[in-house]
Amino acid sequence: MLLEKPAINRELKSLEISSELVIVGGGLSGVCAAIAAARLGLKVSLVQDRPVLGGNSSSEVRLWILGATSHMGNNNRWARESGIINEIMIENLFSNKEGNPIIFDSILFDKIKKEQNISLFLNTSIYHVEKLNNDTISSVIGYCSQNETKYKFSAPLFTDCSGDGVVGFLSGAAFRMGAESTDEFGEKFAPDTEYGELLGHSIYFYSKDTGQPVKYVAPSFAIDVSKEIPRYKSFNSKDFGCRLWWIEYGGRKNTIHDTEEIKWELWKIVYGVWNHIKNSGEFPDAENLTLEWVGMIPGKRESRRFEGDYMIIQQDIVEQRLHKDAVAFGGWSIDLHPGDGVFSEKPGCNQWHSKGIYQIPYRSLYSRNISNLFFAGRIISASHVAFGSTRVMATSAYLGQVVGNAAFLCLQKKCNPRELYTLNHIQELQLQLSKNGQFIPGYLPHDKNNLINNAEISGSSNFQFSGFSTNGIWSNLNESVAQLLPIKSGKIPQLILSVTCLEDTNLQTEIRISSKIGNFTPDITITKTVHKLNKGANEISIGTDIKLNDDQYVFFIIHKNAKVNVQYSEERVTGVLSVFNTVNAAVSNYGKQDAPESIGIDSFEFWVPKRRPEGKNLAFKLNTSISISEIANLKTLIQRPTNQTNAWIANFEDVSPELKIKWLSRQLINELVLCFDPDWDHPLETVLINHPESIIPFCVQDYSIWDDQNELIYEKSGNYETLNSIRFDKPINSSELTIRLKKSNTHIPVSLFSIQIY
Ligand SMILES: Cc1cc2nc3c(=O)[nH]c(=O)nc-3n(C[C@H](O)[C@H](O)[C@H](O)COP(=O)(O)OP(=O)(O)OC[C@H]3O[C@@H](n4cnc5c(N)ncnc54)[C@H](O)[C@@H]3O)c2cc1C
Repeated sequence: MLLEKPAINRELKSLEISSELVIVGGGLSGVCAAIAAARLGLKVSLVQDRPVLGGNSSSEVRLWILGATSHMGNNNRWARESGIINEIMIENLFSNKEGNPIIFDSILFDKIKKEQNISLFLNTSIYHVEKLNNDTISSVIGYCSQNETKYKFSAPLFTDCSGDGVVGFLSGAAFRMGAESTDEFGEKFAPDTEYGELLGHSIYFYSKDTGQPVKYVAPSFAIDVSKEIPRYKSFNSKDFGCRLWWIEYGGRKNTIHDTEEIKWELWKIVYGVWNHIKNSGEFPDAENLTLEWVGMIPGKRESRRFEGDYMIIQQDIVEQRLHKDAVAFGGWSIDLHPGDGVFSEKPGCNQWHSKGIYQIPYRSLYSRNISNLFFAGRIISASHVAFGSTRVMATSAYLGQVVGNAAFLCLQKKCNPRELYTLNHIQELQLQLSKNGQFIPGYLPHDKNNLINNAEISGSSNFQFSGFSTNGIWSNLNESVAQLLPIKSGKIPQLILSVTCLEDTNLQTEIRISSKIGNFTPDITITKTVHKLNKGANEISIGTDIKLNDDQYVFFIIHKNAKVNVQYSEERVTGVLSVFNTVNAAVSNYGKQDAPESIGIDSFEFWVPKRRPEGKNLAFKLNTSISISEIANLKTLIQRPTNQTNAWIANFEDVSPELKIKWLSRQLINELVLCFDPDWDHPLETVLINHPESIIPFCVQDYSIWDDQNELIYEKSGNYETLNSIRFDKPINSSELTIRLKKSNTHIPVSLFSIQIY
């Protein structure tokens, strides 16, 4: 028994924690920064003021993780973020394809708990910063109310991933809040104060069918949404969770200090919405529904943005400007919202896409005046307009990975975040990131330590592509479709396909390419043809004599014509896709982006794929086969399609393909990393969407590795991960490796992007 005598006062228990990197904020940017640094051997303290990880993606807020793939609604092909955030999303797909937010919480916990170098402090809020001198932080102080403990976290480096930027603020880092005027950076889309300078908060609810009538009595503070919310007619009994992203408020308030007040306003709205659904009489199908969950903390979109050595602006995004310190990419639209949020007469958002993904420079990820402070997440150095795009969570997480890697290099080189750039260590950072799966558009990684460079590789087959079988459904050409194919410079092959016509008609086809190689916006027409077709079966050929100057993707377009049916194929291949000129209102894709000239945004058409099980390839043949697979691709670290597939692909018939890797002499092999195809094109939203499969169908599930004595050295079955990193307990001494892969899907040939051997 503990018996304490009366005292004048007492002190809280306090602990001093020393590590190599302190990360404040356990949203996705903090989680990915922590994992990246820990895997490189850094001792990390991850401090999170909430009981769960994930920030806005956690079960406390329930936002789906989005990024450059933009719900598959823009022209960014194969643009899902790679590395740790991909690992998390692929894991979530495997264990939780239905998108249960509670399960997603546990996936994040599991990821962190597997890293021995991470010490996780939940429910611990950082409220004070101690400094060594004006521009150097020595420690941050936090308090955990659950265990009544005060913590002092010390480290040479700090990362602020707290969303509001509490460490940056307390340490005196330069920041901004609100919107820049057009004058400052020449951003033509910069909003005025009438539109609003800050994005507001949101709170969501989930409903549940109980199978029997449920009454609802609203709290007295619920508002009458039919009187107060201009768009109240958009509420219905089916939408819940972050589909109601436009329940937004607070953009005219101080989004930090007024948060509690904003939250109450949002609760008034949310309970008012539910009252409307249950009791207005307009939704008889809501009879059996009950309110299952209401958010207790609001999701915060915007508050402080910190100043780094570079500030990303609108033109970086729209013009896809290049930076020699590029370390990541973004690709969500520039997405601003009216300051009045849900009470505005204006649309809930104003989204404008660029023609492709854009680079994010390293110089935007550290403070310009606090020498040992990194930023990741929504607070990075970006203007209000550019933040409209960089703020989404997959991008935030992607930047977290960069910071984790950069922190490791800073400690190794004994330099601070800025010096990593000024002392020319950026190429090393870029390579390190690429080795761990991070795709940086425009950067060509070469790893001289990769033993694969000196090896000769041969494969049991190498796919020469000449079309897709006619084994799929026939479908009416009620929307324009394009077959997207990677073509080498020189002659473009002819694409030949059968169509059936309900009556005589003219069918228009086109061949288009993108004005910028690596983009997938078909804004240059090479040729247009009108085919005169008769009722019944016809064969058409789409071709041109014009030659391509560069290796790039080509769009073979068939324009919509409801009198025509086309046939699709069941076959799918890495880096080959069909796309449709179609609408995806969720991301402001109305088939075409028609931007007013005054806002400095491009106008172009959207050609987007469809989610599996739809989105099949057309059934066609080519007059000459094309090379979509090269064994040499296995030696590069470009692990996704860019201007070519960048993959090695086996023949369809090769059900157990084999790769032989030979050296002139014996090698000591400690580690082998294989990169399989996780379909970078498919967005893997973490909540609400029920994905069609739990393992990406392009991914090889079973394989084995053998040495030069034909001894089995590794075997894997049931793989679903993208990067398979195999570390041998004892180095393998061999002059040869054989990788035997098994085809996992009848209609998809085996493929592999890269092999790393160390
Ligand atoms: C309503 C809404 C809708 C959105 N829609 C989407 C969407 O659909 N998809 C998408 O990808 N993005 C969306 N966004 C944007 C995205 O959620 C944020 O920009 C993103 O979460 C930013 O990531 P972050 O890691 O910087 O911050 P957060 O996810 O907010 O994580 C920061 C973490 O730091 C913690 N923290 C804060 N202060 C402290 C402190 N003092 N001590 C310790 N920890 C602290 C917080 O609790 C939080 O967990 C939306 C945002 C909102 C609010």
